[in-house]
Amino acid sequence: MSAAETGTADVLVVGGGIAGAGAAYELAALGSVILLERESQCGIHATGRSAASFTENYGNGVIRRLAMASRAFLTDPPAGFCDHPLLSPRGMLTIARADQVALLALELERARALVPTIVAIDPAEAIARAPVLRPDYVAGAILEPDARDLDVNGLHQGFLRAARARGARILVKAEVEAIAREGGRWSVTTPAGRFSAPIVVNAAGAWADAVAELAGVPALGLVPKRRTAFNIPVPAGMDIAGWPLVNDVGEEFYFKPDAGQLFVSPADATPSPPMDAYPDDLDVAIGADRLERATVLTVGRVSHAWAGLRTFAADGSPVVGPDEAAEGFFWLAGQGGYGIKTSPALSRACAALIRDRRLPDDLTALGLSLSDLSPGRLRRGGPASPQPDLTP
Ligand SMILES: Cc1cc2nc3c(=O)[nH]c(=O)nc-3n(C[C@H](O)[C@H](O)[C@H](O)COP(=O)(O)OP(=O)(O)OC[C@H]3O[C@@H](n4cnc5c(N)ncnc54)[C@H](O)[C@@H]3O)c2cc1C
Repeated sequence: MSAAETGTADVLVVGGGIAGAGAAYELAALGSVILLERESQCGIHATGRSAASFTENYGNGVIRRLAMASRAFLTDPPAGFCDHPLLSPRGMLTIARADQVALLALELERARALVPTIVAIDPAEAIARAPVLRPDYVAGAILEPDARDLDVNGLHQGFLRAARARGARILVKAEVEAIAREGGRWSVTTPAGRFSAPIVVNAAGAWADAVAELAGVPALGLVPKRRTAFNIPVPAGMDIAGWPLVNDVGEEFYFKPDAGQLFVSPADATPSPPMDAYPDDLDVAIGADRLERATVLTVGRVSHAWAGLRTFAADGSPVVGPDEAAEGFFWLAGQGGYGIKTSPALSRACAALIRDRRLPDDLTALGLSLSDLSPGRLRRGGPASPQPDLTP
């Protein structure tokens, strides 16, 4: 064994993105926790690359319920968790072209079943809210007034800070390179030393299947998918601060104000190996083209472009729960494009499942069950369809 640090804990958490940070925060209230992050700082992969949006109207039925179960924490975090609000007003406008109006009607019905404040508005009102939209493009729109901007860094740092205050150790430059089960404990080797605990939480994002395989646990077939985003300046004098996030009902693009510029994404979802993702020029060009078709804006300079990996299970729902094949191996992965907004509920679910093998009551009351999240659902022949979900 190296001279490097060695530690034991009740739980080792692998990965320091929003999932691992949230899990460390909740689990540190129950016992000792060591979080192991490969990079020199936490949050530089998917967590640091998101659209920072909170909506209860995006993702499958499981995701929507997890977002709903997260709203209370995000609206009213515990005292001292952060020094300014985590949510701020934004609203989300979902627009449709003439050929998408039937799809918009279905989306409205689905959305309102869970969130009755979501309403149809006429194209003129949609254009009044985002005045660059072309009247000949927008044939219908729905508005989610209570969608919010989410302070991702505030939430992530809040989880890490509060986890440390509860005694958790957060270690960076600690890539998990080997995992072995020895004497009823997981023994984990990293450049920062060797660590052991009876329970490992796999919160390694795009690398979650790879981390499982290190432990001899069969992969779940999680697929990282690259999504591109870029910022463009807006014409001088154009006041965009109050615009909603504008999302196309076919998920072909979306845009929103972002610190004085416009955030744009072509809503791409290109399967990728786990990696430090980077944007493809073609995806940026596709995003610019779709924005120009829908609005009167002309994309000249792109001030910053980036990409991140959104990692999905076959049915689009997260994977939270113990692996049936490996005692003490716990999954917290597959958050897709929704891992920030759902992190409060998923962190609580993780802790409750480890503590007493059941979901928190508020998640059950929303209609969620263990089998919606369990890794086992992906092993027993796999899900029947890509989106079975708890529709709506
Ligand atoms: C463009 C884009 C827009 C998005 N918009 C939104 C949005 O508006 N709202 C929303 O809720 N979600 C959004 N998402 C999704 C969200 O960002 C992810 O669901 C979430 O960040 C996943 O968090 P994570 O902690 O699982 O993964 P990550 O943040 O990727 O963290 C995983 C960590 O594990 C570490 N790791 C991996 N392997 C090892 C190892 N062997 N040892 C130690 N550490 C390891 C990695 O270094 C990494 O830090 C968006 C994503 C993208 C890319």
